[in-house]
Amino acid sequence: MGSEARSPLIVGSGIAGLYVALRAHEEGLRPTVVTKSGLAESNTRYAQGGIAAAIGPDDTTELHRRDTVRAGAGIADLAAVQVLTSEAPKRIADLVRYGVPFDTIEGRIALGREGGHSRARILHAGGDATGLQIEETLRARVLEAGIEARERCRLRALRPATDGTTTAVLSRDDGSQVEEVTGRPVVLATGGTGSLYRQSSNPITATGEGVAIAFRGGALVTDIEFIQFHPTVFAREGAPRFLITEALRGEGAVLRNQAGERFLLKYDPRGELATRDIVSRAIHQEMRKTEATAVFLDATAIPRDRLYARFPSVCRFLVDHGLDPSKDLIPVSPMAHYMVGGVTTDLEGRTSIPGLWACGEVASTGVHGANRLASNSLLEGMVFGERVARQLEHPSAGGPRDAPRMHSIELPPGLGQDDPEAAFREVGALLWDDVGIVRERKGLETAVRRFEYWRDRSEPPTDFDLASPSANAALTALLIARAALSREESRGAHFRSDFPRPSPRWKYHQGLRRARR
Ligand SMILES: Cc1cc2nc3c(=O)[nH]c(=O)nc-3n(C[C@H](O)[C@H](O)[C@H](O)COP(=O)(O)OP(=O)(O)OC[C@H]3O[C@@H](n4cnc5c(N)ncnc54)[C@H](O)[C@@H]3O)c2cc1C
Repeated sequence: MGSEARSPLIVGSGIAGLYVALRAHEEGLRPTVVTKSGLAESNTRYAQGGIAAAIGPDDTTELHRRDTVRAGAGIADLAAVQVLTSEAPKRIADLVRYGVPFDTIEGRIALGREGGHSRARILHAGGDATGLQIEETLRARVLEAGIEARERCRLRALRPATDGTTTAVLSRDDGSQVEEVTGRPVVLATGGTGSLYRQSSNPITATGEGVAIAFRGGALVTDIEFIQFHPTVFAREGAPRFLITEALRGEGAVLRNQAGERFLLKYDPRGELATRDIVSRAIHQEMRKTEATAVFLDATAIPRDRLYARFPSVCRFLVDHGLDPSKDLIPVSPMAHYMVGGVTTDLEGRTSIPGLWACGEVASTGVHGANRLASNSLLEGMVFGERVARQLEHPSAGGPRDAPRMHSIELPPGLGQDDPEAAFREVGALLWDDVGIVRERKGLETAVRRFEYWRDRSEPPTDFDLASPSANAALTALLIARAALSREESRGAHFRSDFPRPSPRWKYHQGLRRARR
């Protein structure tokens, strides 16, 4: 292997990027991590509930596998689920080895329960600060190992190189100092797309740029219509959108409507422990009935000491906003949270572009099917990140197959004109209103037209010009809306009021690829 090939470029500093960097370094490679944010900023940092693995005495990887397949609503990739659940305990051992301080009870790792899981299997750290603890630990190990890390450095484009690999085009965050990196394996670990939506639990870094950049570069994208909404994000005018972990419902908190009635059992016999899509739609429906902007999470039945000990970050946030969760109801609403699909990969993280790997939220292995099971995404970043790291050491040919339903999407040259504020504002509003929790044809058609308008304005005039962040936002939004419009059924996180049931005709993954000019 040449020296460039032994120096992978890893884009993104969440759990996926940092873990791949550490593992690649341990394998004797010389990785570089680049991130458009600070090294510590990512969705990972905000994860509260925890990370799933079947390590409890009454649990098995088979039960974890079954729960994951069930959440996937008929289209979870069975081989990917097998990999995820069977390799989970080994990846947890890695986190322990790196020093993540998981919470314990009497010397044993404490395990919580969350919606859709048939056993207590959620490891947490710092109570509800699991993501922060993982991010800080991995970041510390990366810095200690002397791995090169470049902050405020943005991936701008991926282009085929003459030697058959991929050229990554990087720039400073402000667009200056454009640099082309050729001959190095590239790992896309750029995370999800949640913050494109007007209402979102995600930090501003999560704009789905990796999807747009990879798609423009020719990569296959699958299952992008499945956007998961988190049912309980703090919803008070003017307050930050803070996630109220569903582990609270696992501990006994219940949801009440404006009339104070518990309503979830009307929608699903599992009540508060139903999967996220069901809980989000039930809340959405209750809110529409009463034209309210929120429902209430009632945690008052959980003993005060336990509440404050188990959920210190949530309690601190609520107290800062004048609420005592042991006495007061918490106003919550569903918000965009997680991108189920993304850049298509095989089980080794290989994308359809030679020399480009992807893992974490940006990747689509099919493991989540149409809906992700809570606490499986931190895990996904590590399990498939490990496989990517091994591939970087011993790359082999391969890549994902096309999805059974494929669409070619035209990407005509645009004017390269940018009005970022207006573009982000309209993309956010349309995604929320028309490509949100409940979708239907007319709204989706309107959204597609408007996203095409923004694409035609902002897409660069030629393939050699670099796209702006708002061109990436318009393109990612267009892909989500186009896929949601074609899927004429309801499945998992995708709900169409004009096609409210799953259809056997659609028991497939749907792929999008750039049309060849
Ligand atoms: C509030 C919240 C709570 C959550 N709770 C849980 C939970 O309890 N359990 C669970 O399993 N999952 C949870 N999730 C989901 C989980 O956190 C994410 O799916 C996971 O952290 C994604 O990790 P990642 O490494 O793929 O991406 P991220 O952690 O999002 O990292 C992406 C990185 O890529 C960088 N980046 C993006 N674009 C570019 C570019 N063009 N150039 C350079 N860098 C770029 C970003 O700056 C960032 O550093 C939660 C998410 C949120 C928002």
